[in-house]
Amino acid sequence: MLLTISTVSSVTSGPATDLGFLLHKHPERVQEFGQSFGTARVFYPEATERRCTAALLLEVDPVRLVRSRGKTSPDFSLGQYVNDRPYAASSLLAVALGDVFRTARTGRCNARPELAAHPMPLEICLPALPCRGGVALARRLFEPLGWEVEATAVPLDEGFPEWGESRYVRLSLRGEVRLADALNHLYVLLPVLDDAKHYWLAGDEVDKLVRAGEGWLAVHPEKGLITRRYLGRRRALERTAFARLAELGDDVEEALEPPLDEELTPDGGAGGEAGELAESAPASGPEPEPVPASAHEPVSASAAFAAVADGAPAEGAAAGSEDVRVPLNVLRREAVVAVLEELGARTVIDLGCGSGQLVSALLARPVFARIAGTDVSTQALAIAARKLKLDRMPDAKRARLELFQGALTYADPRFAGYDAAVLMEVIEHVDPPRLPALERVVFGTAKPAHVVVTTPNVEYNVRYDFLDSVHGGGRAMRHPDHRFEWTRAEFASWASAVAGRYGYHVEFRPVGEDDPEVGPPTQMAVFSVKADATADSVKDATATENAAENAAENAARDVTEGTTAVVTGERSEGDG
Ligand code: SAH
Repeated sequence: MLLTISTVSSVTSGPATDLGFLLHKHPERVQEFGQSFGTARVFYPEATERRCTAALLLEVDPVRLVRSRGKTSPDFSLGQYVNDRPYAASSLLAVALGDVFRTARTGRCNARPELAAHPMPLEICLPALPCRGGVALARRLFEPLGWEVEATAVPLDEGFPEWGESRYVRLSLRGEVRLADALNHLYVLLPVLDDAKHYWLAGDEVDKLVRAGEGWLAVHPEKGLITRRYLGRRRALERTAFARLAELGDDVEEALEPPLDEELTPDGGAGGEAGELAESAPASGPEPEPVPASAHEPVSASAAFAAVADGAPAEGAAAGSEDVRVPLNVLRREAVVAVLEELGARTVIDLGCGSGQLVSALLARPVFARIAGTDVSTQALAIAARKLKLDRMPDAKRARLELFQGALTYADPRFAGYDAAVLMEVIEHVDPPRLPALERVVFGTAKPAHVVVTTPNVEYNVRYDFLDSVHGGGRAMRHPDHRFEWTRAEFASWASAVAGRYGYHVEFRPVGEDDPEVGPPTQMAVFSVKADATADSVKDATATENAAENAAENAARDVTEGTTAVVTGERSEGDG
């Protein structure tokens, strides 16, 4: 199923390719987004200064669609297997659009704020749209929103015109509309026209409707029909929606934005704001399940959330609906596993393993012959043991695993002897003055052939509306226990300095959607020891440590004073 959005340059606007900034999708790339029911791809069939078209192509896997339904799904019939979902721009397309263009739907665009705020010439085409109510209803829904509607009914069979029309229309919309509004019109109205919403409705459907309908739904002449159909004719939900629309008017709170994907720190994040984020993933919740190997592979909603009890669910997860994106911590874990596989690591130590989500994923892959998880927090280790079902683990598996308590800032012989060490979302929990000690312990003493480090990219924080409303203030971090969050430049500078000092080379990779403006939500550095790394380089490194610690203390002061600082600065000068 396909949707295209085109724009042309006008005298007042810039080049048509600015559409890429507004959609937060680069015109030169094909980008892929896993959905629980298939794969969405965004690409640009044309991208010139004069005219630019973005296409959203959704491939639905009908089998996955069936499997990702909740057990309570009302539709257990052949219709689940034989249906139009793979071909027609149904509510599934709206779900994918809602996910893929999530930021664009909020109307936020730092690169082109003017353009994002104003109507622009747009043309939207949907070659096959299921439309209960036909051409006439399509007009009634889109015309009041300023669209010029061209809708043609698709015949049931071109060879037999006497059979009449199918329930599909070819729809094209033309108008001067703000892009965010256009996306929200589609997000709400595609499922309304389809009128066969594929997922089991949850209470937060009302939130989604109110949020997406901001600025237009409350005054739409068909708001009754739209609300009724969108909510699958659920009386109670409808009443809530009407009350909300009446009460809120257009003033929809930012807090309704989806929660941030962030891990719960078992020992530090239980209280206050982090506790709120974490509460939606109860400690007694489902146990980890194996998840697909590739970060591109869509993960079903239930598998994704069962597998990461410490990840805050994304939009729509509450009642097993499918309207979810793969949470960032799943993407991150799968990216780390993929890198370890690529490096050929057979033995891995997860430093700061937390509740053991990476350890669990590694255990599921026999290629990892020996796995260790260590954390300073005994509570984290207890949670990990419970989630991994350590007491009931088959002997062969149990023999590959070791969990132990340890602090990364103190040299420990148990950290040594692995092909690779992972520091996944750990360094930002360490006080900057203690970072050089951690570097020495990991890169200097344990010295595995490879070290994989991930940490938040603070530049991406502007994409999390929720952040400001949770933590308050413009410099909000993603987690109250974070001691710092770095820009890409800061992380690169730290990692290069460490690599230089300890005889590694380092390369960087994005994790999650690589936003053209602010980069990916998570940044990853992959360190590999240099073949010619000598003991001297390590000795040199030790010699510079005092200086390093001084620099780190200065940096820490900067951090407490509110400036995120490059912790290690230029300390690598003169190192091996
Ligand atoms: N790697 C896990 C957990 C990240 S949260 C994941 O990505 O899911 C950070 C973890 O680092 C916490 O579990 C915390 O207890 C641990 N940690 C923080 N400082 C540490 C230190 N100095 N030594 C060992 N573990 C530490």
